[in-house]
Amino acid sequence: MDAKAPITQDVLTIPRKAPEGPQNLIGLSREQMREVLIVAGTAEKQAKMRAGQIWQWIYHWGTRDFDQMTNLSKDYRAMLAETFVIELPEVVTRQISDDGTRKYLVRIAGGHEVEVVYIPETDRGTLCISSQVGCTLTCSFCHTGTQKLVRNLTAAEIVGQIMVARDDLGEWPVPGAPRDETRLLSNIVLMGMGEPLYNFENVRDAMKIAMDPEGISLSRRRITLSTSGVVPEIARTAEEIGCQLAISFHATTDEVRDRLVPINKRWPLADLLDALRAYPKVSNSERITFEYVMLDGVNDSDADAHRLIKLIDGIPAKINLIPFNEWPGAPYKRSSNNRIRAFADIIYRAGYASPIRKPRGEDIMAACGQLKSATERARKSKAQIAQEAGL
Ligand code: SAH
Ligand code: SF4
Repeated sequence: MDAKAPITQDVLTIPRKAPEGPQNLIGLSREQMREVLIVAGTAEKQAKMRAGQIWQWIYHWGTRDFDQMTNLSKDYRAMLAETFVIELPEVVTRQISDDGTRKYLVRIAGGHEVEVVYIPETDRGTLCISSQVGCTLTCSFCHTGTQKLVRNLTAAEIVGQIMVARDDLGEWPVPGAPRDETRLLSNIVLMGMGEPLYNFENVRDAMKIAMDPEGISLSRRRITLSTSGVVPEIARTAEEIGCQLAISFHATTDEVRDRLVPINKRWPLADLLDALRAYPKVSNSERITFEYVMLDGVNDSDADAHRLIKLIDGIPAKINLIPFNEWPGAPYKRSSNNRIRAFADIIYRAGYASPIRKPRGEDIMAACGQLKSATERARKSKAQIAQEAGL
């Protein structure tokens, strides 16, 4: 199968409506749902109310069967069942790490697979979701970036990842039971496979569904979108999503960042920092998270730490140091613990919180930057990876 898999850097987006077969209600906005209900014969006057009812069944109660939507008439339910489906991506495998991290391999249309990771912590549970199959960008330290096959996920496939995780965690409310305020799945990070800002509309629509108060109801403060720095889309994220922003910063000079995060050649540090300065005000969000992967001898010197502080001066920020997660064939090594501590110390003394991200789920290859579809073996050669890393 793999030998025949198309090798392409083109990003395809599957149209929302499959050319044949019943339409999936998942992933539609409230307005789109209203429209499809009208097309299916619902009276215009009633369509908004019906959409609201169906919305609650799907996104609040987690219902997948039209027959259980008991505040709708039998005939109406039958019409829905004939015309529509409520369809989530299929979970192919689930692995549970010694530390409780769960990794799901999820299959989407076309037989593609993406990975979703659930990370339980004492005060929260974070779901790391994917926005693309693979990634068109080629950050030289990232495993996903070595995957050649790329396709954008639809809004349904993005919000579907949250829903299958809630299924697995048994987290849909039960009618009549008191509301459980301590959620197992309390936070979302768009830090799985793919560059979310290269799939802006679908990511935005999916996050709007996740934030809707009559459904999954996650606050925009509990959603963090991580980008490698697609500068023109950063302002749009502030305006149209308003979630928290994380930036894959990783270097303090254009020369090094060009090598680590090649999108830097298009939008260099100065442009990126301008966009980041404007973000908190427009989105009314708190601090921006600066992600910084610690690569031995590449970006981890004291001088880097001092430059980093200087560059982000004036931006409400927290810095997240990520010990490099190695993968087979990776052209870098993780900085030593002493080096990471020394770097963190400089940042801390400058007044920033500088947590060192604890790698989670390493035994199941679930750590940041390790995600890559196991079925997609159209890998670049080691030589190619090394060449792109400028080694
Ligand atoms: N494409 C987006 C989001 C996905 S990557 C982005 O780049 O921001 C999520 C985070 O993991 C990013 O900060 C990314 O730079 C980091 N990352 C990628 N590969 C890694 C690795 N091997 N070790 C540690 N962090 C890695
Ligand atoms: Fe893509 Fe992010 Fe990996 Fe870069 S770090 S290749 S942008 S997933």
